[in-house]
Amino acid sequence: MSLKPNPQIKIKHTQIFINNEWHNSASGKVFPVLNPATAEKICDVQEGDKADAEKAIQAAKKAFQIGSTWRTMDASERGRLLYKFGDLMEQNHEYLANLQSLENGKTFKDSCGDVIFAIRTIRYFAGCADKIHGKTIPGDGDTFTYTRLEPVGVCGLIIPWNFPVLLFCNKFGPAIAAGNTIVLKPAEQTPLTSIYLASLVLEAGFPPGVVNVVPGYGPTAGGALTASHDVDKVSFTGSTEVGKLIQQAAGQSNTKRITLEMGGKSPLVICNDVDVDEAVVIAHNALFMNHGQCCCAGSRTFVHEDIYDEFVKKSTALAMKRVVGDPFDDKTVQGPQIDDEQFAKIFDLIESGKKEGAKLECGGGRHGSKGYFVQPTVFSNVQDHMRIAKEEIFGPVMQIFKFKTLDEAIERSNNTEYGLAAGIITKDINKAILYSNAVRAGTIWVNCFFSGSAQTPFGGYKMSGQGREFGTDALHEYCEIKTVTIKIPQKNS
Ligand code: ADP
Repeated sequence: MSLKPNPQIKIKHTQIFINNEWHNSASGKVFPVLNPATAEKICDVQEGDKADAEKAIQAAKKAFQIGSTWRTMDASERGRLLYKFGDLMEQNHEYLANLQSLENGKTFKDSCGDVIFAIRTIRYFAGCADKIHGKTIPGDGDTFTYTRLEPVGVCGLIIPWNFPVLLFCNKFGPAIAAGNTIVLKPAEQTPLTSIYLASLVLEAGFPPGVVNVVPGYGPTAGGALTASHDVDKVSFTGSTEVGKLIQQAAGQSNTKRITLEMGGKSPLVICNDVDVDEAVVIAHNALFMNHGQCCCAGSRTFVHEDIYDEFVKKSTALAMKRVVGDPFDDKTVQGPQIDDEQFAKIFDLIESGKKEGAKLECGGGRHGSKGYFVQPTVFSNVQDHMRIAKEEIFGPVMQIFKFKTLDEAIERSNNTEYGLAAGIITKDINKAILYSNAVRAGTIWVNCFFSGSAQTPFGGYKMSGQGREFGTDALHEYCEIKTVTIKIPQKNS
């Protein structure tokens, strides 16, 4: 099937989705969604605030009541609804990909790929819905004990803007498969895809109140979810700064369960036994994928001193070849950054890199004069104390470090408060295993980067997060374990 890019698509939905109905905001307020390629307004969206979030929470709470349609539905039927939702996504693949590129600025090709990954994720969790089960346990005494995995309850799902469709699905999929009800808050920069996905929820036939989508800002709509006593769990993806606020809000309200997937400063170590050309390509994609806007980006490239100069030269040449521009143009590999705030943050960090003595090999400036485009940028001679070595840039800015021994590379890889991912490129299996065991991160890639699927758990050590997404581990994040113990009579009286 050949999908066509079209920036002129009609925006079909801009309202708040509660109880299977479309609503305007209680306050009457709307907020603008901008096209990052032009900084012009695409449309206004209803601005959900505390009152709207509360209404959605109550709808989700009602749908979760004992005896409700949702609570009495067979697990296999929940799976069928998810399959139906996945099929609807597939039928609307082209529209969804266009909508995502329009609001997010990623290339249409990348958006098409994201949607495929998202559909696979939905289908994976659809298949899991009727395979969530507990254990029978040989407890002591005259008892029979078994466990049930039950849904946690009302789940607040808070997602960021960098993979709007995929992140909707990787939280919605397991939450729904496990039988929870949800209130999802999309990022304020990219609400349109989530609102559109809500229309597919309606079409798929989910009962009212099971899925609610409240677009709005973080501290208001998001804050209402995290502070609510009627929300049993929050699953958040975004910055470490906001993740900390969510932990606090959980502690100050009802100690709701939380899953956090936050920032990273992931190392990628290139040993001296590699094919340099191949390693350059892996490291390039590890950083520049999605315009550098990936929490697990390989943003600290450690290169062995024997191949350092050649590696820097080739990496710079490759970065300079990147075609930056209109996300709907087939030749483009890099679109704009998401907004003016990220744009300013990236340039602030680029300036700090120059000031602190890193060598700017290429880029460093704005691309064009409209929208939020950043030139592909490469720094060499980066030292561990520099801000660009420690802070998450979330932009197309590569940092290349030099190392001598694997022990040193391990120590420096671990020298960060983050622990989302790490990678090593080597032909030596012993080095690969040593490194994989020694680095404190939730994902280690060997001779690849960003490889992952719906089946493989993903999440962070240290300040990169808590809990896991994808795979059966994600399902367990949306379940409570109930232990049932039954006294066994000793004789039949
Ligand atoms: P980024 O830095 O990638 O934009 P953020 O952590 O700021 O990520 O935002 C990720 C998501 O968290 C967005 O949906 C945003 O609206 C939401 N958010 C931001 N601040 C809060 C908050 N105080 N409480 C709840 N959600 C928030």
